[in-house]
Formats: sequence, structure tokens, C-alpha cells
Amino acid sequence: SIKNGRSNQYCQYDSGMRSEMLRRSEIEAVMEKALADGEFTFYIQPKYDVDGSRVVGAEALARWIQPGGKMVSPGEFIPVFEQNQFILQLDEYIFTRVCERLRNRLEQGLPVVTISVNVSRVHVRQEDFVSTYQAIKDRCQIPDGLIELELTESIFLENLDRIGSIIRELRAAGFGCSIDDFGSGYSSLNALKGMPVNVIKLDREFLLNEGDTGKGAVIVRSIIQMAKKLDIETVAEGVETPEQLAFLKDAGCDMIQGFIFSRPLPEPDFARLLEEDA
Ligand code: C2E
Ligand code: MG
Ligand code: MG
Ligand code: MG
Repeated sequence: SIKNGRSNQYCQYDSGMRSEMLRRSEIEAVMEKALADGEFTFYIQPKYDVDGSRVVGAEALARWIQPGGKMVSPGEFIPVFEQNQFILQLDEYIFTRVCERLRNRLEQGLPVVTISVNVSRVHVRQEDFVSTYQAIKDRCQIPDGLIELELTESIFLENLDRIGSIIRELRAAGFGCSIDDFGSGYSSLNALKGMPVNVIKLDREFLLNEGDTGKGAVIVRSIIQMAKKLDIETVAEGVETPEQLAFLKDAGCDMIQGFIFSRPLPEPDFARLLEEDA
């Protein structure tokens, strides 16, 4: 009967929802446990001057190393974490570990460089984001300018007044502030007007299959020129070939981050690199 058919449908819908909820809470339980068990860590990728002769900064990149050594890439887990808010815990965890490592090295008198840490757009929406990060920075007694926060270009899709005041608060709290993946999507040249960012990171997409005569090259050159006039430094990310490097050098890019000089390294390897460099 119709009635039966309906109640059947309800039944299916209901059990479908239940299993969806179960799946979610299972995923969350797995992540909570992975965090508690120390499966999340970070690698560090150095940023170099255009000659590749000096490490001028570095970026901490989250890594999930599962029991047995399987490494899951952030490209897989970050989008999932952004959907279930777990990204808040992960970002804060990575940021805290980076601050603690820095503190430790400062106490030992070891060389340090400015480290940048990624912050999700989801995170930036949190009311207490700046004060939470500032409290951790203060607790670890990190001097101003040693940590830079990388916000992806997509934050420009949020309320621009609010983003502007968040960036001002971050700078006032002693954080550097960079716009990651610049040029990858939403065009944000105008948005930069009210934003005291100190670095923009040119998205890797610009460098793919581009000679130095294509349209992409023209855009990269003008972004770098504009940045200079605004007193903003430029980092090119994902630089792999000598041709890309030569182009970026000619275009006046300030810093290079890419496999051409170094992959992201486990922290002890990065530490060794800094000590050799010093
Ligand atoms: P991103 O912040 O733009 O980081 C740069 C990515 O490019 C890294 O990928 C890095 O390993 C990769 N890369 C660097 N040089 C080269 C190169 O020469 N060639 C190629 N093909 N790739 C290069 P990774 O480590 O897989 O991270 C992917 C993304 O995940 C990051 O992109 C960032 O958006 C996000 N992410 C990583 N860690 C965190 C974190 O702690 N919090 C948040 N919210 N996001 C994170
Ligand atoms: Mg980044
Ligand atoms: Mg990037
Ligand atoms: Mg990117």
C-alpha cells in the first residue's frame, strides 16, 4: 500500500541519516585519536633568496603520519577537516608546536628564521582567532616578526572590513601576514588596499607551462611591480625549473620556495640546514 511504501521510505531515510551521523562521528573519533597519539606533525620548507644562496624564511606544512608510516598529504585531509571544523584544532596544534620549537631554539641560542604557518579561512571566521593565537605566541615568548601567518586569497571572499581589521590586529600583535595562493582565484588587487599584509605568495599555477612571454608572465611581472610599490614582499611558490627561476629573478621576485632548492623537510633536517647556513 501507499502507506507502507511511505513508512518504508521514512525508514530508509532515517537509517541513512543515522549511518551518515555515525560515519561523521567515526571520522571525528579517528582524528581526535590521531591528534592525541601525535600522528600530526609538520615539515618545514625553506624559502630562499633568488640566488638560492641563503635561507630567508620557511613554511611549516602539516603532515599526518599514520601508524606504519603512511603519510597522508594535506591536500587530502585539509578539505575534509575544513568541513567538520576539526581544522580549528589542527591549525592551532601546528601553530603551537611551531611556537614551542622556536622557543626551544631561541633558548638554546640556535639560529632561527621567520616561519610561516597556514591558517584556514574557516579559522579566520572564529571570533577569538586573533586573541587565541596571540596568547600562544605570548606564552612561548616569541619575539615580534618571527612568525608569519599565511591566509589564503579566498579570505577576500569574506567580509572585507572584518578581514582588514583582523589583519591589522595580527600585525599589531607582532605577526607577519601573507596572502597565500595569490592570483589563484578571486582577483584581489583592489582588496589589498585596506590590508597591511607584508607578503604575497604567487600561486604555483602562474608558473605552470609558462614561458616568460605568455600572459601569465605579464601578470606575474605586474603583480611583483605593484607589490614593490605597496612595500609588500613577494614569494614565488612551487618553483621547480631553472627557467622559472631565471624569469622570477628577472621579474624582481624577492623569495623562492620550491623543489628547485628544497622540498619540505622533517624539522631536524631543516634545523641542520639552518646550522650549516649560519
Ligand atoms: P600551500 O600553503 O600553498 O603550501 C605549498 C604547497 O606546495 C605544499 O604542499 C608544498 O609541499 C607544495 N610545494 C612546494 N614547492 C613545490 C614545488 O616546487 N612543486 C610542487 N609541485 N609543489 C610544491 P602541501 O604540503 O601538500 O600542502 C598543501 C596545502 O595544504 C598547503 O598549500 C596549505 O594550503 C594546506 N596546508 C598545509 N598545512 C596546513 C596547516 O597546518 N593548516 C592549514 N589550514 N592548511 C595547511
Ligand atoms: Mg601556505
Ligand atoms: Mg601557497
Ligand atoms: Mg598553493
